[in-house]
Amino acid sequence: MKPLIHLQDVKKDYPMGHTTVHALCGVELAMEGGRYYSIVGPSGSGKTTLMHMIGCMDTPTSGEVWLDGQPVHHLDEQGRTAMRARYIGFIFQAFHLNPILTVRENVSIALQFLGAGRREAEVRAEVWLDRVGLSHRLAHYPAELSGGERQRVAIARALVKDPCLVLADEPTGNLDSQTGGEIVALLREVNRRTGATILQVTHDPEIAAISDEIITFKDGRVTGQQASSGRLQR
Ligand code: ADP
Ligand code: MG
Repeated sequence: MKPLIHLQDVKKDYPMGHTTVHALCGVELAMEGGRYYSIVGPSGSGKTTLMHMIGCMDTPTSGEVWLDGQPVHHLDEQGRTAMRARYIGFIFQAFHLNPILTVRENVSIALQFLGAGRREAEVRAEVWLDRVGLSHRLAHYPAELSGGERQRVAIARALVKDPCLVLADEPTGNLDSQTGGEIVALLREVNRRTGATILQVTHDPEIAAISDEIITFKDGRVTGQQASSGRLQR
């Protein structure tokens, strides 16, 4: 079977004044569709940069990135935008909800951007907000929600367009440990229910244990990839 995500010798340099930061130094990685992966590694090791390459938010300095059998490393801004819209849902540490939109609007607007009509987008948004346990918060604003509730809205927003890949960069980083555990348990359930591949970055080995496989990352390189328990370790 072809991997859903395939990286070959991916390097990313950032020019910084007179020097160059080598953020990725030859990443080799293959990930299959339908699984839940965690990337763990020290701060500054290049995890977010790697997510940007896989998420078509930026292009590598050299090397190849393949998504669902398509090369994405040469795409221009327009091509990357189209790939993101079609394939990928994003979840961030700081939630990134729109503060002037309601919970329902934050989720439905993601579909309206893709061309869905307003009523259809609202109906599908409500289905996903129900799945993440927020049916009673549809008309609320992000500022009126707890951190865990905000991340649930972000999960609904990422999943409402049926992406085959969900990228979550430190999704529990702004949450207390119990709420963080609830959020990854929800992601685990979403993966099993929809078959969407999940790739999360985390510092926390207990959080990483919920995934099917753990990829260890250091100094801009993959240093290991092994099976995990698929259960939260606390
Ligand atoms: P991590 O997510 O593992 O903490 P990052 O991918 O954010 O690591 O960063 C890897 C390295 O690249 C760090 O040294 C960081 O300072 C540098 N870096 C990241 N983004 C940029 C950028 N836009 N410009 C310059 N340097 C960057
Ligand atoms: Mg990071």
